[in-house]
Amino acid sequence: MASALLGIEGVTVTEAEEEADGRLSVWARITGPAACPGCATISERVHEWVVTRPRDVRYGGREICLFLVKRRLECAEEDCPQGTFTEWAPQVPPRCAITRRLLEHAGNEVAGRGITPAESARHNGISWPSVHGAFAGQADEILGDEPGQVSHLGIDEHRRGRPRWRRDTDTGETVQLADRWHTCFYDLSGNQGMLGQAEGRTSDDASYWLAGATPAWRDAVRVVAIDMCTIYLSAVRRMLPRAQVAVDLFHVVQLAVKAVGDVRRRAIREKYGRRGKAGDPEYGIKHLLEQNLENLSPDNFAKIIETLDSDRHGQQIALAWIAKEKLRDALNIRARITGSTPCGRQVRGRLFAFYDWCAQNERVTELIVLAGTISRWEDQIVTAVITGVTNARSESLNRIAKLEARHAYGFRNPANQRRRVRIACTRGTRRNKPSPTAKTTHIVTMQQHAPG
Ligand SMILES: [Zn+2]
Repeated sequence: MASALLGIEGVTVTEAEEEADGRLSVWARITGPAACPGCATISERVHEWVVTRPRDVRYGGREICLFLVKRRLECAEEDCPQGTFTEWAPQVPPRCAITRRLLEHAGNEVAGRGITPAESARHNGISWPSVHGAFAGQADEILGDEPGQVSHLGIDEHRRGRPRWRRDTDTGETVQLADRWHTCFYDLSGNQGMLGQAEGRTSDDASYWLAGATPAWRDAVRVVAIDMCTIYLSAVRRMLPRAQVAVDLFHVVQLAVKAVGDVRRRAIREKYGRRGKAGDPEYGIKHLLEQNLENLSPDNFAKIIETLDSDRHGQQIALAWIAKEKLRDALNIRARITGSTPCGRQVRGRLFAFYDWCAQNERVTELIVLAGTISRWEDQIVTAVITGVTNARSESLNRIAKLEARHAYGFRNPANQRRRVRIACTRGTRRNKPSPTAKTTHIVTMQQHAPG
């Protein structure tokens, strides 16, 4: 029964004892016939007895000191070069210091539960390289195969570490040594999570990764979602000429909200000759101006109108605020909000109303700059509104990537970082596919004792 509780195939428990420090000492020996690894002959000639102490998983939270007694046997075959050999079991192969199930458990803790190899090593009483090796083996098996085809691809940048600076001793200037970035590729339409990472964040870095994919994979990409970043736009143009590019609409609205803030700050400075502070009516509505029009309560709406209608400074802010809402009008006809897919002409029509408004109020220079930026990205905005593809999933996975780096207190090794981040981003999706080796169940039978 004790052997069944220990649950190591081919190992029989002979004695178990509780130590003063709460640990459990378990004495066990390997059972069954032992075959020579050289010639596979079964031998019974005992050369000596050895006691090994492999690390094993905890038992109900308690640490186990496993004393494994093994026989060293002499090979019975006369001309076998092996000489002697020790007994072994699948969980405790020759020369093993850690049971296979502990390695599997430690690797699982990192790959599946997201704790760091260092933390797992501490808890399990084994070394960092052992845990990392077990994790890398599991992770590479999951991540190893080429990414499957995706129709919607997300590209985003991710800072992989602090920038490093050095002071030049001759000139006294501060020189940047390294600014470490990763370009990340995400599956936005399926459940593959992060597809891969490339070191650096230039157009060439992104193109290089895309060039590594098969032509069939590149042809399958229909829409690519990016932030408003020309670097990745040119990489997509070069490597995926047939894909449409959608710009993330969150960043478009963010740009308009920023323009409203710029106008508000300038107007306050012109009116009071100083920066805004609590008590200024224009300052008091700054968060209301950032809200979506449809989310404002009637009272708050009245408050904005009252504040902005009072003088010419307020009216400038109002012009920018209306421009923001006109831009949002164009974005809000996407299917997620209206329930029906719009056509390109509808979107461009509403964008035209926005441009028209900016042109009519050209004295607010911030609006001219905003309209210029929007018109440069018009095709990508229209694609985003029509297809409804957003970079939201990229951003959420990017957050996981940042969290992973924080848990690790930074990474020295970029390859390890990429592996850890990718496994974290695919956790719960790809890694849950059934494993090729089915677990066998051991049935424990107990003798029934008659009462009395
Ligand atoms: Zn032999």
